[in-house]
Amino acid sequence: MTFLKSNLETPGPIHHRVNYLRISVTDRCNLACRYCVPKDHLPTLSHKDIARYEEILRVVRLSRDLGVTKVRITGGEPLVRKGVLDFISEVSRMPGIEDVSITTNGVLLRKNAHLLKGCGIKRLNISLDTLKPERFRFITGKNLFKEVWGGIMAAHDQGLTPIKLNAVIMRGVNDDEIEDLVALTRDYPFHVRFIEYMPMGNSKVDMEQEVLIPEIRERIETAFGPLAPVTRGVHDGPAKRFKIENAPGEVGFISPLSSHFCHECNRLRLTSTGNLRPCLLNPYEREILPSIRQGASDHELKEIIMETVRRKPVSHTLITDECSRTTSQMFTIGG
Ligand code: SAM
Repeated sequence: MTFLKSNLETPGPIHHRVNYLRISVTDRCNLACRYCVPKDHLPTLSHKDIARYEEILRVVRLSRDLGVTKVRITGGEPLVRKGVLDFISEVSRMPGIEDVSITTNGVLLRKNAHLLKGCGIKRLNISLDTLKPERFRFITGKNLFKEVWGGIMAAHDQGLTPIKLNAVIMRGVNDDEIEDLVALTRDYPFHVRFIEYMPMGNSKVDMEQEVLIPEIRERIETAFGPLAPVTRGVHDGPAKRFKIENAPGEVGFISPLSSHFCHECNRLRLTSTGNLRPCLLNPYEREILPSIRQGASDHELKEIIMETVRRKPVSHTLITDECSRTTSQMFTIGG
């Protein structure tokens, strides 16, 4: 099997190019979003079960040697982990890593936006499912809308761009805010992205509450007129990009269920427990932490990384009409 220097590739029925590593640095979070955390309890891992920064950095370096050029830091909530800013700086400074970004709920962003910029972060994704403070509390379990909005503004003031706002629309919860969220793109250069709810773990959201992208798009076009497509950029992920007329911002659609994008998936994930995972929505994971802790060589660890990439499934297993759910938790894998 041959690997191109610039890309991790897998042979077989699909030809995956894996150049993007998403790292969940913690399973802990300062919010408890209905669609993300289990309804019964929120397990927290002990420190020894979580990958240490130097261990994660080794995986980043070896993945970089195999062709990874993009890294996203996520969680749980990445900004709650002590030392995360120094860790991000280290990743940003690593030669060969061209793009480092973070996904955050924004709660701690007001005081961290300028520090993140100093660490080499140029753009960031922030979860925002509602513009109503009381509803924010219902969705996330915390009365922190003002902090999050303040964080978004702080990031905007720092010139971090683009700022992508991720919204999960749930029927009967926030589906009446689709238009208000889109209207933000007229006032700010934000990319408002609608992500289909993925049934993962044991969350408080039912499949009947699912609102799929075609319905969201129809609602937007009824309110704002036809959406104009935006040309894709080299660093684009799975979002389909559009604009409403005269808006500085964009509207994006991420549709893992109604129109999955497995054939173009370029991602490998490292979970907070230090497992490599080739697909968000398929339960296969490969441990790498025990090998690191038992003194494996770089060569052996690269074999583990390559073997995981080879196991990247042709297509994920989440099938809407059968209402299947994966047992994995988003906050451990990193959304
Ligand atoms: N704490 C950070 C945040 O809130 O953005 C990062 C972690 S969070 C797991 C990453 C993303 O996953 C968020 O944008 C969130 O909306 C999304 N997410 C979590 N559970 C989801 C689900 N079941 N379906 C779709 N998106 C989900």
